[in-house]
Amino acid sequence: MIYLDNNATTAIDPRVAEVLVSELRSGPANPSSLHGLGRTARAKIETSLDTIGRALGTRLDRPGGPRLIFTSGGTESNNLAISGIGEPDNDGRLGPIVLSRIEHPSVIVAAQSLASAGRQLRWLDVDELGEVRVDLLADLIAGDPSSDRPAAALVSIMSANNETGVIQPIERIAEVCRAARVPLHVDATQSIGKTPVDLDRLGASAVTFTAHKFHGPTGIGCLWLAGGVKLRPMLFGGQQQLDTRPGTEPVAMIVAMAEAIRLACAELDDSAQHMRSLRDQFESELRSLLDQIVIQGSILRGQASVAEGRRPVPARLPSTSCVSFIGADRQSMLMALDMAGIACSSGSACSSGSSPPSHVLTAMQRPEPEIRSALRFGVSKFSTVEEILPACESISLFVKRLRQF
Ligand code: PLP
Repeated sequence: MIYLDNNATTAIDPRVAEVLVSELRSGPANPSSLHGLGRTARAKIETSLDTIGRALGTRLDRPGGPRLIFTSGGTESNNLAISGIGEPDNDGRLGPIVLSRIEHPSVIVAAQSLASAGRQLRWLDVDELGEVRVDLLADLIAGDPSSDRPAAALVSIMSANNETGVIQPIERIAEVCRAARVPLHVDATQSIGKTPVDLDRLGASAVTFTAHKFHGPTGIGCLWLAGGVKLRPMLFGGQQQLDTRPGTEPVAMIVAMAEAIRLACAELDDSAQHMRSLRDQFESELRSLLDQIVIQGSILRGQASVAEGRRPVPARLPSTSCVSFIGADRQSMLMALDMAGIACSSGSACSSGSSPPSHVLTAMQRPEPEIRSALRFGVSKFSTVEEILPACESISLFVKRLRQF
């Protein structure tokens, strides 16, 4: 199999797998137990926190400073942030949540479930290249006492989109949120381990990430919280993690995640360069083999604003290509490529199997033929040039066969 679906999940790094297996074999480990084994397990969590903090530029050892909540992954961290962050106003009401139209379903649907219980949502548009419209954000956040319009209680914007790889201008977003004193949650699931990050300087109140996107185990993730940020829990019945996320901490998974993030950040320059070079080869090879393709988030044909240089093309993750093969159907291509031993995706992993049109490309107002024919490819540090060129050959073959013109 040529695995080009690394935005869905990545292969565990063998060095991380070794750490995980050795931890799992090391005997019982409940960090809440008061005996020696429990204390050893607690110490491993403390060491892991130190490792994660160093890799991500955050000091997790100061009372009242930033802290990390361990969760089961990105979906849980996002749900926790959406439902649990934001202070009620003087009348006890929780203000609106502002979110972009291209968030992952674990943000959008979590917010929609609160909306069905009366919470207001306000949507931030994106432009045709998939970058959020920061220019519209201040207005969406603002309240107006004369019209009883409440100010937003939370903003949630992802750091990089999982379908297009387009990197969002988080620093500018954080500035707008800071000026309005509204907490910002950043779903950094796709960018952590692929682009440098300094959590203490990001300007966010909360950040989501998950180990299986950076060659760690599936089933463990984090919600990072800036100092002083309060979080309402979703789970009850234990005192672990200061009551905010009760349940026995999975020590082996935490230790393995810490190793995964340490390796990802230590090797980031080399792995990003490797991925970018493969991704660029992939795109230029496809361009040379096929006409009528559109690389989403990149320069689009006939786009005056970009051609005239009025606005720079946004940066993309080094790993990601979202390509529309005009005239072909994405679902048929996905199946044909699968049969040929090439794994890619027609959207976010949670929606594979069904085929609703991409909410991300729809929000970018891409024409229907582009949406209908878009596939997502993601390389990793383990991908090789020997995989890229044959993959392009097969893709080109199937596109030509399946195109209906
Ligand atoms: N957020 C983004 C941007 C994602 O791409 C994903 C997974 O694809 C998630 C959240 C969910 O993460 P998890 O699979 O760990 O629940």
